[in-house]
Amino acid sequence: MKLLFLGPPGAGKGTQAISVCKKYSLVHIATGDIFRKEFSEKSKLGVLAKSYMDKGDLVPNDITIKMVKKRLSQDDCVNGFVLDGFPRDVSQAESLEKICAIDYVVEIHCPDEQIVERLEGRLVCKCGATYNIVTNSPKVCGICDECGDRLYQRDDDKSEAIRKRLEIYHGTTEPLIAFYKLKGKYIMINGMQSIDGVFNSIVSELSRKF
Ligand code: ADP
Ligand code: AMP
Repeated sequence: MKLLFLGPPGAGKGTQAISVCKKYSLVHIATGDIFRKEFSEKSKLGVLAKSYMDKGDLVPNDITIKMVKKRLSQDDCVNGFVLDGFPRDVSQAESLEKICAIDYVVEIHCPDEQIVERLEGRLVCKCGATYNIVTNSPKVCGICDECGDRLYQRDDDKSEAIRKRLEIYHGTTEPLIAFYKLKGKYIMINGMQSIDGVFNSIVSELSRKF
């Protein structure tokens, strides 16, 4: 399975990608996570990416595409993956077509009002786990269930950056829905369900396709 998860920031792509990858033994490739890891290691790429991320802007395409190409060339990708947060515009999607063929694009559909609520309550861990103070809290307050590390709020989960990210999603990323519909690769999932409900919908759609 070579899948893309598409949707506005906060729709639940990362949350679902972790469970879907576990179920089907796929590799989870989240471009935002890669940039955050690079920044935590203070690499040149990470520091540069962070200057765009904090404002809610996209990291320039030349940097992002090169990074994804390198990641997809690694051996662990041969048995399938979920790309989460890439592509984010048509030019990235066209570049991806030159790198490899994707089977399906899963859009997790979620309205803007819900997005703001979810992002303002999001807590994340360096290990990639995601929580929410309202809908998905960790067992011990502020501590990751998976690795025991301290959870934190992302610098771009603040109202100004959220507004900018939603604007970019609707203007630049959403046109990808039409792009993949035309190719017959598009699956739409209602993101306004519980986390388990969204997961069951994705699994049920995938079981019809594979
Ligand atoms: P994305 O990867 O699309 O940016 P996340 O998976 O990080 O989104 O989810 C955003 C926030 O919303 C997190 O705090 C997560 O725990 C929460 N969340 C995810 N899916 C749901 C859902 N179906 N219902 C309620 N909250 C959710
Ligand atoms: P995410 O973790 O997917 O919410 O991404 C966080 C931030 O990382 C985005 O707001 C962008 O600044 C940057 N980013 C992630 N993926 C991409 C991408 N495919 N293209 C450009 N910037 C990206």
